Amino acid sequence: MEFLDRLLTCADCGGEFIFTAGEQLFFLDKQFKNDPKRCKPCKSRRSAQTANPTGGPAAAGISRTETRTECSECGVTTTVPFKPTQGRPVLCRQCFKNKRPTSEVVAATVSAVAEIVSSAPAAEHAPGSADLGVTAHSALA
Ligand SMILES: [Zn+2]
Ligand SMILES: [Zn+2]
Repeated sequence: MEFLDRLLTCADCGGEFIFTAGEQLFFLDKQFKNDPKRCKPCKSRRSAQTANPTGGPAAAGISRTETRTECSECGVTTTVPFKPTQGRPVLCRQCFKNKRPTSEVVAATVSAVAEIVSSAPAAEHAPGSADLGVTAHSALA
């Protein structure tokens, strides 16, 4: 029986690859019924994935929820435990920490303003109309 090189199409990348006479002999020897479906690069890629099912993003040391992005403050590459929204600023841990005292200052200013606002009506009420009303009532009685 004579074997000839055959041109097959890869099921993965759609590229053509040669099923050589030697490989056909090998297939016959192993009693493989079907022609190879994938070219060598695709086949090795597949077996590599099978050997390491957790391959992909986790292999790079990033968990599935962590997204690699750039800090919009200092530009350092950082990972965030969420998918950043386009256009939204993303801060690294350091910048996030640096930001916090600022928001505390803002909060303190807001409460100081609130104190001024709450004390203002009391100052307005203290002298005047209420006392006059009481005086009018006692005068009538
Ligand atoms: Zn291929
Ligand atoms: Zn930063």
